[in-house]
Amino acid sequence: MLLAYLQIGIKYMNIITEQMERNLKNKLMNASWVCHKCGQKYGSQPENHIATYHMDTCDVCDDYTMVTEPRDYRYFRDTLNPRNKQDDKN
Ligand SMILES: [Zn+2]
Repeated sequence: MLLAYLQIGIKYMNIITEQMERNLKNKLMNASWVCHKCGQKYGSQPENHIATYHMDTCDVCDDYTMVTEPRDYRYFRDTLNPRNKQDDKN
């Protein structure tokens, strides 16, 4: 009986995790502005790249802080498309 509950719990957690991942990917794909914290967490900045920041709401974490465009973090391709991580050094 307990095992059955555990299995249901694990299944439910997997569903929630999948949903969270989907939500995050949607946010990353549709973000207009992103803060440095989220940019570093989900993307990476090209070398010697200069980004222009201003005060606004980060579309990923909803903090009102310094934000810039997702393109300054390679459109989060490290998170959205992990296979490309090694390919591109631009
Ligand atoms: Zn953020």
